[in-house]
Amino acid sequence: MNAVPVISFEFFPPKTADGMEKLRNARTQLAAFAPQFFSVTFGAGGSTRDRTFETVVDIQQAGFEGAPHLSCISADKAEIRDLLAQYQAQGIKRLVALRGDIPSGEVSSGDFRYANELVEFIRAETGDWFKIEVAAYPEFHPESSSPGADIQHFKHKVEAGADAAITQYFYNADAYFRFMDQSRKLGIDIPIVPGIMPIYNFTQLARFSSVCGAEIPRWLRLRLQDYGDDLASLRAFGAEVVRTLCEQLLAGGAPGLHFYTLNQAGTITSILEQLDLQQR
Ligand code: FAD
Repeated sequence: MNAVPVISFEFFPPKTADGMEKLRNARTQLAAFAPQFFSVTFGAGGSTRDRTFETVVDIQQAGFEGAPHLSCISADKAEIRDLLAQYQAQGIKRLVALRGDIPSGEVSSGDFRYANELVEFIRAETGDWFKIEVAAYPEFHPESSSPGADIQHFKHKVEAGADAAITQYFYNADAYFRFMDQSRKLGIDIPIVPGIMPIYNFTQLARFSSVCGAEIPRWLRLRLQDYGDDLASLRAFGAEVVRTLCEQLLAGGAPGLHFYTLNQAGTITSILEQLDLQQR
C-alpha cells in the first residue's frame, strides 16, 4: 500500500478585509483534510510582496504551516535577501521558488534569469533552513524550446537544491505519468505533486489555460462550453471530472495533491470527501 497522500492548498493574497475573511473561512473548511501547508502566491515583480507576507503570517498565527511563493523575475539579490530574512524571522520554513511570468511588453531584468538561480541563491544564503518547492510542467512550459530541454531545466532546479515540486495543472493523467517516468530516468527522485485546478467557470479556466499552456482536452472543453450559463451543472460535472483525475493520479502513485483553491473551499471539499485518502 502507498503512503497517505500529502495534501496542500494554494491561496492568492486578498486585496480587501472581506477577501481575507473569505480566505479564512475557506482555510477553516480545508483544514479538515490535515494539509501539510497552505501556500500563498506572489505577484511577479513583487506586486503582492506585503500582502503575500501578511497572508502567510495570518496562516502561521492560526497554527498552520504557511509557504510563501517567491518569484525572482525583476528582483535583485538584495531584495530577495531581505525577504528571506523577513521569512526566517517569522519562522517560515517552506518556500515555493519560481521565476515568475515576465509582464507582457517588458523584458526580463534583475539578477535572476531562471528559477534554478533563485534556488541556488536561497541555498547559498540560508543553507537548509527552507524546504524549497519548485514548479514542474507535465505538459511543458509554454516558453520551452522542447520537452527534452524543459525537463533538463527542471533537473537544474532539483540539482540546485529543490526538495519537492508542484506541477502546473492538467486534465490528462497520462501527461503526469509520462513526466514522472522521464524524471525518474533522469535521476530526479524528489516528490512531484500534481497541481489540481477545480473547475468553477469555463471562461476563467480557458483564460488561465491559454496563458500557462495547460491543455483543456477537446471533449472536456466542448462539454464545459455546452453548459453555458448553467454554472451549477458545470461545477457538478467539473467536480466529477477532477475527482476522477485525482483518483487516477493517486492510484498511479502520485505522492499527494496540491489544490489551486482560488480562495474557495466548497468544490474541493466535496472532491476530497469522496476520495479515500487513507486506504490506498
Ligand atoms: P523556470 O524554471 O525558470 O522556467 C521558465 C522557462 O525557462 C521554462 O520554459 C524553462 O524550460 C526555461 N529555462 C529554464 N532554465 C533555462 C536555461 N538555463 N536556458 C534556457 N531556458 C531555460 N507565478 C507567479 O508569478 N507567482 C506565483 O506565485 C506562481 N506560483 C506558481 C505555482 C506553481 C505550482 C506553478 C506550476 C506555477 C506558478 N507560477 C507563479 C507561474 C510561474 O511563475 C510561471 O510558469 C513562469 O513562467 C515560470 O516559472 P518557473 O519557476 O517554472 O521558471
